Amino acid sequence: MERILVSACLLGQPVRYDGRGKGVASDILARWRAEGRLVAICPELAGGFGVPRPPAEIAPGAAGAGVLAGDGVIRDSGGQDVTAGFLAGAHAAVRLARAEGCRFALLTEGSPSCGVERVHGGYFDGRTRAGEGVVTAALRQAGLEVFPQNRIAELARAVDALENRPNPPRS
Ligand code: SF4
Repeated sequence: MERILVSACLLGQPVRYDGRGKGVASDILARWRAEGRLVAICPELAGGFGVPRPPAEIAPGAAGAGVLAGDGVIRDSGGQDVTAGFLAGAHAAVRLARAEGCRFALLTEGSPSCGVERVHGGYFDGRTRAGEGVVTAALRQAGLEVFPQNRIAELARAVDALENRPNPPRS
């Protein structure tokens, strides 16, 4: 059975910077939860941050892969460089995914950690730009397929396709 790494806030856990969750109402997610497929993590808590915490964004000019490579930084709304904690959280997510054998992840769009296709712009003005967060970048480099919450049906099809794949013929 495929196990799926999932952002803890998508399960309603109150781990976001503002102390809230971001639970999604989804029959698919409910079924996966009942099947015991879900491996939940909040990378920012794993990286040592608390709740609540100041919001943070990837500084303009970089995205997740660049931050991982040392070519970008993440700053909180007070201007403090919090990159090290975000990197620690990304590495913790990769370790957990490997330990649990996850090949798929479902993460929260827009986050500097978990964003899949979009991240906030780095100006704390509410606007987003194309790009991935540091956790998504690290998981992709580790070979996982990463989906945002609004593409859960597509993820379900990918999981089903893998599990229904016939065994290769024996030689
Ligand atoms: S780091 Fe990920 S799991 Fe944690 S609050 Fe942010 S989006 Fe949710």
